[in-house]
Amino acid sequence: MALSNDEILAGDRAHVWHPYSSFLTPSPTYAVRKAQGVTITLADGRELIDGMSSWWSVLHGYNHPIMNAALVAQSEQVSHVMFGGLTHEPAVTLCQKLVELTPQGLNKVFLSDSGSVSVEVAMKMALQYWHSQGRPEKHQFLALKKGYHGDTFGAMSVCDPVTGMHHLFSDNLMRQRFAEPPSSDFYGEFNPADLDSVKEQLAAHDQIAALILEPIVQGTGGMRFYSPEYLRQVRTLCDQHEVLLIADEIATGFGRTGKLFACEHAGISPDIMCLGKTLTGGYMTLAATLCNDKISDGICRGEAGVFMHGPTFMGNPLACAMANTSIELLLQNNWQQQVANLESGLRQGLAPCRELPAVADVRVLGGIGVVQLHQAQTLDTLQPLFVDEGIWVRPFGKLVYVMPPYVMSADELSRLTQGIYKVVAQLS
Ligand SMILES: *Cc1c(COP(=O)(O)O)cnc(C)c1O
Repeated sequence: MALSNDEILAGDRAHVWHPYSSFLTPSPTYAVRKAQGVTITLADGRELIDGMSSWWSVLHGYNHPIMNAALVAQSEQVSHVMFGGLTHEPAVTLCQKLVELTPQGLNKVFLSDSGSVSVEVAMKMALQYWHSQGRPEKHQFLALKKGYHGDTFGAMSVCDPVTGMHHLFSDNLMRQRFAEPPSSDFYGEFNPADLDSVKEQLAAHDQIAALILEPIVQGTGGMRFYSPEYLRQVRTLCDQHEVLLIADEIATGFGRTGKLFACEHAGISPDIMCLGKTLTGGYMTLAATLCNDKISDGICRGEAGVFMHGPTFMGNPLACAMANTSIELLLQNNWQQQVANLESGLRQGLAPCRELPAVADVRVLGGIGVVQLHQAQTLDTLQPLFVDEGIWVRPFGKLVYVMPPYVMSADELSRLTQGIYKVVAQLS
């Protein structure tokens, strides 16, 4: 009962929403037959080297024998069971590991289904915490412009107001406060004036419950790498103003920036941390919100006496088993070396792009490579050019960026970066 490539694409165009998509002007869409290692095979037979890790998620490559075996083994024990009143080894093992690996003090773990939900949970934790402290007026969030935290309403309310098109939803969106993002580069000198905007907001508004940010790398909002000193000082400012710090490590977690968690670049621990994307190595959807004992004690002593959240698929055993296996592989595989190899390969491979007329900047941090263009390009023009080069790269606006699976070989990586060079060289 296999559908042909044309049948898949026709059905897709008729009925299937894609991320940020239109049925009237659909973007080029390709049917995938299978994926193996770092190669995606299309239904028409073409093979693409994956530069995106399927949006930061597939760490160890596709169709990984150990991951596959773990999936089957867990399915033969229990695939799903409700988490109210029941628990199981995969969830307990995972939460123990996350507590061990994440920055000091994050001792309590709330499992959920996706990154956006983990952000909702983080925001709700902050609100319930302040309520429990007799400070219900602390109900607003401070976020950074150019930030991205997900697409559900709470998460959306702390995304960049312009790129998040807040005006479309203005009657339904919680009104938050926004600070200017840091301008000091990760590699450059820190400019203390970067903190002015956050300082101003914190000083002027007692109602702020928490500051939420993506540590070190502002991802979807611009792929910007900023100074660890900024993060360190923001932590101090939050403490001074009795504001909680929420670190959204959904994209940066598990080694992508060269540290296991991006907060480690600054040596700080947030009050609440969100994890997702690559938590299961790209096999299942799963996210986690961690908090310290101050937050969990406060919430549990508060009016409700409980934390008011509980998704149907909370702690899904299959997803937890995949997360456990992915983390084991990560630690066994010497991820520091893998990410260092990606970093040097990306640096070397993307450097020639600097000379191209269309290119404004090239930057690399850990396993993330960015070629920033002078002018925004439409996806519809660029995407087919990358596919013609045999690589899977999904740019947005002025940004051509990659974050390859950690298992990519030097040869595959140089084919990826050469493909990017060739496509960007065609732009003027
Ligand atoms: C992707 C992402 C999210 C949202 O995660 P979903 O699983 O897509 O809901 C939130 N924050 C950051 C930093 C992300 O990169």
